[in-house]
Amino acid sequence: MTNIIKLLIILSLFFSLISCSTESKPEPQTQQLNQPPQNQINGQIDRQPQDGQILEKENTANVNYNEMGKVMVLMYHQFVDKETNEWTRSFDNFRKDLQVLYDKGYRPVNLRDYIDGNIDVPAGYTPVVFTFDDGTSGQFNLVEKEGKPAANPKSVVGIMEEFSKTHPDFPLKGTFFINHTGFFHGKGTPQERLKYLIDKGFEIGNHTVSHANLRKVATAEDIQKEIGSHVKKTAELLPGYVVDELALPLGIMSRKYPEFVEKGEYQGTKYQNRVILLVGSNPAPSPANKDVNLLKLPRIRAMGYKPVANDMYYWLDYFDKNPEERYLSDGNKDTFTMPVKFKEQVNQKPGKNIVLLK
Ligand SMILES: [Zn+2]
Repeated sequence: MTNIIKLLIILSLFFSLISCSTESKPEPQTQQLNQPPQNQINGQIDRQPQDGQILEKENTANVNYNEMGKVMVLMYHQFVDKETNEWTRSFDNFRKDLQVLYDKGYRPVNLRDYIDGNIDVPAGYTPVVFTFDDGTSGQFNLVEKEGKPAANPKSVVGIMEEFSKTHPDFPLKGTFFINHTGFFHGKGTPQERLKYLIDKGFEIGNHTVSHANLRKVATAEDIQKEIGSHVKKTAELLPGYVVDELALPLGIMSRKYPEFVEKGEYQGTKYQNRVILLVGSNPAPSPANKDVNLLKLPRIRAMGYKPVANDMYYWLDYFDKNPEERYLSDGNKDTFTMPVKFKEQVNQKPGKNIVLLK
């Protein structure tokens, strides 16, 4: 028995060495290995941690970078000319939302980048994640423009494309959580629609095949069908694309089979969701926060109509008044920089360095 345990320890050490050597590395530092580390030369040089390091240093910048700050994951549903209820956003107000976010220093990242902690926004800016549920045609539909398929200018994708042209530092990012009961409509095949989105930099997410209330789905088999067949159908349309982000329809989780919502198999297609999104109503923790629960990630309602407590404008105002709670990027996606008080709160991700500012 002890020999088996010894063997297991040796094997696990061996594999951890292999995984360390193959994981993605941050950009190499400019300093030579045979020179003393820069932080020993003098205190004036901006010290950078080596691969996988945690470094404490004085904050010499005039900005309080805080990559332990909170991140808004915005949730949208229907887009219309005139808002009629809390699930609708008008095209004009969506344009306004983009401008307000831009002016306040928010820049979009994809949900996958949030999960992986690859927050690639300039120094001093704050990441924001866009999510769109239900695959409605106001979010996206294809029209023909000069003989080619193009996003309808009167759709989220058309509006974001236009905005990104005039604001090149506001890239096209966002996840469309579709059902497989018909999505977006308009011109083009379902395959062409999804491919257009992926090619532009957006993501496709799982919102179950039929927009099921998962609490009412009676069996584990049916849960796996709702989620697994989505993954299968999406991969049939987009070969090689793995759907591993789920937004719960109506924000409702299965009470009986939560494990199959996270992970399962349907007709030979295995799935494992890396993130499960709720409906409402708080900003998400930093991806560097050890308490982040990706399987219960909160979103913020970004719909207008009447001001609803805890909607996007509430939180924008909140962060204006409480800037120390807002994620403020150091501009380096391989390093999480934050006040030293978060030392015990940080979860170091593979390939990421931590800088703690004193
Ligand atoms: Zn929905």
